Amino acid sequence: EGEGEGEGEEAHSPEALEAEARLLLPHCWRLLLGCFEGRLPEGAPSRRVLRLLRSYGEGWLGSLVAALERNALPASGAGCADPATGGAGAVLPEGVVLSAAGSMLNHSCVPSCAVVFGDEAAKGGEWTGWGRVSLLALRDLAPESELTISYVDTSLPLAARTAALRAMHGFVCRCEKCEVQRGVARVRKMHPAGSDERLEALRAFGLRALEEGLYEDAVAIHRRLLREAALADEELSKPAEIWRARRRRGDALLRLGGALQRLHRFDEARAAWLGGSEALPEHAELRREAAAARAYHIAPPPHASPPGKRKRPAAEARILAAGGGRRIALSLQPLLSPAVCDRVVELCEASAAKAGGWSTLRRTNGWHIPSAHVDIDRRAAGPRCDTRPSRRQTRRCEQRLFTPPAVNRSVPTTDMEVRGVDEVLTLFNECCASSLFPFLEATYAESRLKVSASRLRVWDAFVVRYDAAAQRSLPTHQDDSHLSLTIALNETGEYDGGGTSFEDLGGEGFVRPEKGCVVAFPGELRHGGRAVTRGVRYIIAVFLWVAEESP
Ligand SMILES: [Zn+2]
Repeated sequence: EGEGEGEGEEAHSPEALEAEARLLLPHCWRLLLGCFEGRLPEGAPSRRVLRLLRSYGEGWLGSLVAALERNALPASGAGCADPATGGAGAVLPEGVVLSAAGSMLNHSCVPSCAVVFGDEAAKGGEWTGWGRVSLLALRDLAPESELTISYVDTSLPLAARTAALRAMHGFVCRCEKCEVQRGVARVRKMHPAGSDERLEALRAFGLRALEEGLYEDAVAIHRRLLREAALADEELSKPAEIWRARRRRGDALLRLGGALQRLHRFDEARAAWLGGSEALPEHAELRREAAAARAYHIAPPPHASPPGKRKRPAAEARILAAGGGRRIALSLQPLLSPAVCDRVVELCEASAAKAGGWSTLRRTNGWHIPSAHVDIDRRAAGPRCDTRPSRRQTRRCEQRLFTPPAVNRSVPTTDMEVRGVDEVLTLFNECCASSLFPFLEATYAESRLKVSASRLRVWDAFVVRYDAAAQRSLPTHQDDSHLSLTIALNETGEYDGGGTSFEDLGGEGFVRPEKGCVVAFPGELRHGGRAVTRGVRYIIAVFLWVAEESP
């Protein structure tokens, strides 16, 4: 640019600019190649390629820029998948990467992977610089499932994502998130608010969002459904219609809670279920969740404890791993007395004998979830409102590399709910008050969770039976909990193998607490139940969350 004397209008005419650009381009071209070359180590083969490119004319510059624009992948810096920042939801692009292999990856607005700089980015280790990129899995991947990344900022609304993808890559995204969001938008245009068609379609899309793991969308859809249904249902007069509408609202509340639970918004999930069960007492699954919420011990707020009565000091803990504030804690003294352990096992075996054996509950990510969320028959999802005319895969490479099979995230175990046997529940609640909660407070008060006994809540608790002859182990998984506990109920001499394994303890690392002792860990830590090779091992598995406020 120049505004010096003597420059007339003609100097800025398109022709003049083009002539100038033609002069400038070769310089830019050399400068650009020089920059790239400067980043490469001496003797790298790519240096020769760049030297070769330098002999080409300026037309190549345009091609290079176009190739960069189209193929550069958004990449994230170290720690992008740290659960502290919200895990997969918080992958923020911090730069771009040009990678031949990476350019083969298809797009999805719910990507299974992210491109990150360096090798050790995910582990928070030493940053290895510009030379390398890795692909980081954002969730557990089923074998043979397609790896996807996002070409755009996934936090953008549907319209912005669609526009960006169309402009830059020339396709319309048909990923599950786009399909569901587009479908909901269409439903809102097609049917008036509160109409039965609209409510039914929202119901179907809400369920589909849950099935696809789109929990944020599931929350939004169910909240909308409940808002609209509350107004519409007042108009109903026929008993059959009223019954059906109540059933629909009950299902929506149950699923809303399920989605909130998966997002670790436990307080809101519990509130949805407790409120729902009160308003719709005939809904069996809501009743079950409300009963679970009321069954387990809740400590009174600190000021409510009688003054003068000295608290017993909490049991000591051995901290096994504390990477990134994620500590695994093993109690050095039993938190359950041997007599209590024996009694719990005795009661559970007696109860199982009466019921005809130990049941195998279906769990998702390590805990029981209401039956409404598992084994969903796809036909039961209702009308699809023609949102999926034909499933066209968006792809940049010709070849389809993978076919995605259905992902089964359920983990079956042989277990029994603690609250299922009255005396077991009483014993367990006493232990929560006297030893378990104080132990957790002492161990995790300083952690990111800022645990205090009065804010701890038991989401679920199970007595689990690992049997060398039946269910021996539990595959590696994460729990939907803030904290998880394993309490050993029998002598370690009664079985071979067994124990809880942790990825953070290295490949073979595991903890095998003595009878009555406890291992506690944040639910986000990847862990599994090691195989029992002889005898029977009993444990209580407890899933807790830290409530926002004291009762
Ligand atoms: Zn999409």
